[in-house]
Amino acid sequence: MKKLLIAALTALSLNAANLHFSLHKMETGKGDTLFIIGGIHGNEPGGYFAPMLFLSHYKITEGNVWVVPNLNFDSILQNQRGIYGDMNRKFAVIKKDDKDKEIVDDIKKLMLDPKVSLILNLHDGHGFYRPIPKNDLFNPKAWGQAFIIDQQALAGTKYGNLAEIASKVAKKNNIVLQEDVHEFNVKNTQTKDEDEAMRQSLTYFAIQNKKPAMAVETSKNISDLPTKVLYQLKSFEEFMQLMNIKYKRDFELNLKNVTALLKEYGELEIPPHKIKLPLSDLKPSIGYFPIDAKGLVYKSQNPLVAVIKSKSGYDVYNGNIKVSSLSTQSYTFDDSLKEVEAVSDGKLQKVAIGSYLNVKNSFKINVPSDYRLNIIGFSKKGAENESGIEVAKSEFDKNYSLDKSAKIYRAEIYKGKSFCGMVVVKFD
Ligand SMILES: [Zn+2]
Repeated sequence: MKKLLIAALTALSLNAANLHFSLHKMETGKGDTLFIIGGIHGNEPGGYFAPMLFLSHYKITEGNVWVVPNLNFDSILQNQRGIYGDMNRKFAVIKKDDKDKEIVDDIKKLMLDPKVSLILNLHDGHGFYRPIPKNDLFNPKAWGQAFIIDQQALAGTKYGNLAEIASKVAKKNNIVLQEDVHEFNVKNTQTKDEDEAMRQSLTYFAIQNKKPAMAVETSKNISDLPTKVLYQLKSFEEFMQLMNIKYKRDFELNLKNVTALLKEYGELEIPPHKIKLPLSDLKPSIGYFPIDAKGLVYKSQNPLVAVIKSKSGYDVYNGNIKVSSLSTQSYTFDDSLKEVEAVSDGKLQKVAIGSYLNVKNSFKINVPSDYRLNIIGFSKKGAENESGIEVAKSEFDKNYSLDKSAKIYRAEIYKGKSFCGMVVVKFD
């Protein structure tokens, strides 16, 4: 299986959004391709955390799945529907100077790729769609807990039986309902004749270009994110089954597991091999964080991780969750050292810079003579260089831990005034 990252770079044009989406191709080369597009609306987290989990915990063994987990990335970070306006109303016409233009143009191109056989556009919609009006939340105008189709069918395409496919998947989703009122239905907006606004949407653009597409909506009125993510993942699986796409996932699909997996934020890496930071339990603010004077470059396995300039440094996000604020200090980055020697609980080992040193009780790190080690949160009178000094967990000042549980500390290596990298010490 190939997993390819095509575009996750900061846009270059001034008149463009700050962050571009990333495309992940999970391909076996044979069979049909399902294209999952998440995050068109930034305040609909079910629609982007589901594809994020899908990317990290599923493997495709037959057929192909393309995933864009973060289409409207700038709006996701701000938890806003669309900071440059509603992106899902820009697929018929878009102004030349619209900040979303590059993103809309790029996603359109991908959608029209001849390989793509079916497109899903993910949302958390208002209320709970019901064909018969009951009250404010349960009525035909609601969008939540529904598969939204623009028309009954799209003739001449393999997956053009939209209503039939949608109702099959809805029925399957209704097997894993956490509450009866969460039942899924199919909503046909009859876009061509009856819904002018929807004529500007992503799915209708697809339909007009002979690409089967539909929206998968969980409800904004379900406040529990894992519940929404569970429903989205279940529907991906049902669509894949319909398309003969085979997969493996590394967990059992239930609410408890999805809840636990959503607490894993992944890592932030500062290349090349400078810093690796575990994000899940990171403290809300971290001081004196070293950063390259030439500017920040970072990467993460989690496609929803972004690091954004703030007043005092940078803020780290996982989707709409602000993970931590880093107050930064800039340094010249020195790449001359790749690894150091460390002793963890009496055991000698080599540790790559920009990686972890696992420790039970105590450790020491030896850096070469022209380098200096600074263990943050530990100080020994008279020692400016902490190379070769044995340090026990109890000697740390917890205020300086990287994590809320006070188990993770940083050891920073310098050469003169330059920063050479960090070893993150993890106590059991
Ligand atoms: Zn939406």
